[in-house]
Amino acid sequence: MIPSPFDYVRVQSVDEAVAALTEHGEDAKLLAGGHSLLPIMKLRLAVPTVLIDIGGIRDLSYVRVEGDEVAIGAGTRHHELEGDAVAAAEVPILPYVAGQVGDPQVRHRGTLGGTVAHSDPASDLPTALLALGGTVVVQGPDGRREIPITEFWLGFFETALQADELIVEVRVPRTGSAGWAYEKFTRRANDWPIVAVAAVEGRVALANMAGSVVRATATEEALARGASIEEAAALADQDTSPGADMHADQEYRRHLARLLTRRALERASGGAAATAA
Ligand SMILES: Cc1cc2nc3c(=O)[nH]c(=O)nc-3n(C[C@H](O)[C@H](O)[C@H](O)COP(=O)(O)OP(=O)(O)OC[C@H]3O[C@@H](n4cnc5c(N)ncnc54)[C@H](O)[C@@H]3O)c2cc1C
Repeated sequence: MIPSPFDYVRVQSVDEAVAALTEHGEDAKLLAGGHSLLPIMKLRLAVPTVLIDIGGIRDLSYVRVEGDEVAIGAGTRHHELEGDAVAAAEVPILPYVAGQVGDPQVRHRGTLGGTVAHSDPASDLPTALLALGGTVVVQGPDGRREIPITEFWLGFFETALQADELIVEVRVPRTGSAGWAYEKFTRRANDWPIVAVAAVEGRVALANMAGSVVRATATEEALARGASIEEAAALADQDTSPGADMHADQEYRRHLARLLTRRALERASGGAAATAA
């Protein structure tokens, strides 16, 4: 399969990217790592007439502490996040989860901004980000604005991003040594999750249990009122709408969500050192 014809523009700065998006409108698509966009272009599920390549904007690639938060540039590749010492010390769930994404080729090309913008409900890093909370910083013709992570993903391939905006940064709270866990159930190692669960400080997020990554709010509320892990985890699939495919039907996904949530909460309550096994 080959994509339909398109023009190619390579930009060197965020301002140039915004100008190109403004000029070409909804027919344009940003190209970061290309690992989600190119497959859907080959299937003709996306038919952009212009590709704006932002892969060369190197000042979008960083992980740094800013006050109570860790700021991560949208161009940061999964393997950079996986090996980043600041992230490991300040928000250790992220490098761990980055190391669970696809294979080394995917991790060397895929970017944080790309996986956040793509809004696939089975994405690993967005699940962890949703459990962390924080903000997605975007830039458009009118400057920058911050979107709470909880309001960013609207559905399958759907986000709060406008057509003339790009993601420049994701900001998450520093969690330090607080307990966390990521439980990912896959058919093969480093495959997309059939279901995954991220748990950080009483917040729980689920992959592949709805049209986008979602918080397990019934579980979180039960934990907040002092329920046991077992009771809270039994509510993990409440208000979800899992799909069915060749790997799992809806009831099996619901079972996985409850089981993996219990495991994640048990690991997270054991402290950070007990979580990455
Ligand atoms: C074989 C394979 C296995 C994979 N396995 C997994 C897996 O196990 N878990 C997982 O979570 N993911 C997996 N992925 C997806 C991978 O993580 C992708 O890299 C990621 O989803 C998209 O990042 P990208 O930089 O390649 O984005 P691209 O493909 O370049 O772009 C994706 C979308 O985001 C938009 N976009 C990109 N950057 C920005 C930005 N800064 N601002 C606004 N919009 C932007 C693009 O226009 C496009 O619509 C896999 C991919 C492949 C090919």
